[in-house]
Amino acid sequence: MKISVPKESSAGEQRVALVPEVAQRLVQPGGHEVVVESGAGETAHHPDAEYTDTGATIGDGFSGEVIAKVGPPSSEEIGRLGQGSVLVGFLQPLTNADTVKALADAGVTSFAMEAIPRISRAQSMDALSSQATVAGYRASLIAAQELGRFFPMLTTAAGTVRPATVMVLGAGVAGLQAIATARRLGAVVQAFDVRAAVKEQIESLGARFLELDLGLEDAEAAGGYARQLTEEEQQRQRELLAEAIGKVDAVISTAAVPGRPAPLLVIEDAVKNMKPGSVIVDLAAETGGNCELTQPGETVVEHDVTIVGPLNLPSSMPDHASQLYAKNVQNLVELMVSEEGGLALDFDDEVLAGACITRDGEVVHEGAKQAVTA
Ligand code: NAD
Repeated sequence: MKISVPKESSAGEQRVALVPEVAQRLVQPGGHEVVVESGAGETAHHPDAEYTDTGATIGDGFSGEVIAKVGPPSSEEIGRLGQGSVLVGFLQPLTNADTVKALADAGVTSFAMEAIPRISRAQSMDALSSQATVAGYRASLIAAQELGRFFPMLTTAAGTVRPATVMVLGAGVAGLQAIATARRLGAVVQAFDVRAAVKEQIESLGARFLELDLGLEDAEAAGGYARQLTEEEQQRQRELLAEAIGKVDAVISTAAVPGRPAPLLVIEDAVKNMKPGSVIVDLAAETGGNCELTQPGETVVEHDVTIVGPLNLPSSMPDHASQLYAKNVQNLVELMVSEEGGLALDFDDEVLAGACITRDGEVVHEGAKQAVTA
């Protein structure tokens, strides 16, 4: 089977879909042909020579039977995908209707990494988790960097410094990694999530679970995700959070509900209530932000609080983000191979069926279908 890797074209994207170590595993004697576009690995610090050393070749990144990408293809790139070719990448199927439609029209069989079912068997392909791990780690570093205070407690000849206090809102994969990182840096951390199941996970990382009386039992919905709160519940959450947030030095917010805009958790009054010099790192900036004052892609100072709204954080750590992503891609691609080593898509496999967005000229993924017809 021939697998090709284009150089990512979207502005600021530094990751690459296959790193040399993973290319080598795919190429191994009796394995696949891997073609990498010249410079594809450069921003993740993998020059062309590292790929050719593994037995991969440098050539047309769109020439494979399977094309592995990180971000969604541009319309020009879709034009380079042959009919019946297989595309794998973060395709944003619920929010990027134009791309989904263009892929269907071009006869491309596309698989979205974010649509891979989150079942145990597919954990090794779960790119949402691998990239959220990077984002959560990075978010804590940004908070530490922006804060004019130490994270750890320090006892020095010039006096004792109290540790910073950090509040993490939303304790999914990114939030838990943000908690772990802030703890490693010595901060005192508390965290809140609407899913009751995460209390234990938060506590096992040495953080305190913030108890807010929202008057709800548990907000866990299908697939382990949070359900959207009612307007009344959200209003109560915002009021209670405003009080708790006023006491901490840094807030890292990661709350998300799949396919919906990020829930608004931190209103302007809550920001006003924060101590001067506090920091908010809003990981939900990409889907509108958890904070009312977040400007996606910008760092702003409002009411003497620094509010950071980073976009595509995983790309800011391209080496390890690419390494983890490439492994996710390898594990998915290996599901597409017949015993003889050729391309064989078994749509009875729930992972392939769940991740497939377009096929035979049609949009086949339920959520993507709704987005396209909306
Ligand atoms: P996500 O990015 O969709 O959301 C981040 C967090 O925000 C979640 O923990 C969610 O509960 C929380 N949230 C939503 N609304 C909120 C609100 N109003 N206030 C506070 N918090 C709010 O989530 P994710 O990190 O992608 O993971 C979500 C779930 O998926 C978890 O249960 C996780 O264990 C599960 N998961 C399963 C697998 C697997 O089995 N392969 C892999 C990864 C994650």
